[in-house]
Amino acid sequence: MRKESLDTTLFTKLSLLYSDMEGAYNRAASKIGLSCRDCAENCCTSHFQHHTYIEWAYLWKGIGSRPEKSRREFMKRAEEYVRQSRILLAQGLRPRIMCPLNDGGLCQLYEYRLMICRMHGVPNSFVRPDGKKMSFPGCSRCQELYSRLEEVPVVDRTGFYRDLASLEVAFVGQKIKTLARVNLTLAEMLVQGPPAI
Ligand code: SF4
Ligand code: SF4
Repeated sequence: MRKESLDTTLFTKLSLLYSDMEGAYNRAASKIGLSCRDCAENCCTSHFQHHTYIEWAYLWKGIGSRPEKSRREFMKRAEEYVRQSRILLAQGLRPRIMCPLNDGGLCQLYEYRLMICRMHGVPNSFVRPDGKKMSFPGCSRCQELYSRLEEVPVVDRTGFYRDLASLEVAFVGQKIKTLARVNLTLAEMLVQGPPAI
């Protein structure tokens, strides 16, 4: 299959995987009663990295779907984000800067947001390939809400990770052996441009 049509197929599979993640998140959030509406602690200011080439490329597909004016604005904010975060990191501080894609509290590329953006909020866990279980309690608003529940729903990310890893292998192909590991913030993914695969 030609690379271009393979990518289209893989992007479709990725968007279906994202929908599954969203379904699992929404079921847990609804049982807990969690909504992001009017949240003072907007988690889009968190400083975190993403790790797959396929999500990086899909993010750029999303950028390409937006008008020129929005794209210019995203890039301007991304450059500023990277500049400010470098200063803070050099001072040993953890940056808390709004994501360049968030405008007015809302993600402007919601359907293209990456896996980690989709999982934050509700309690979730995953089992690493070495068998170690990693658990995350969810955001503070969520923790306060589920403190009143007898049974707390926890989203298991293990299958999502496995499926994403399979898509990554298919997307990168033989280059998987030589490519550097992705460890970039979303702003860095924008500033660096689409991945050269
Ligand atoms: S996931 Fe939690 S911290 Fe993030 S916006 Fe929603 S309620 Fe706020
Ligand atoms: S991509 Fe969207 S959901 Fe993720 S941090 Fe940025 S604005 Fe928030």
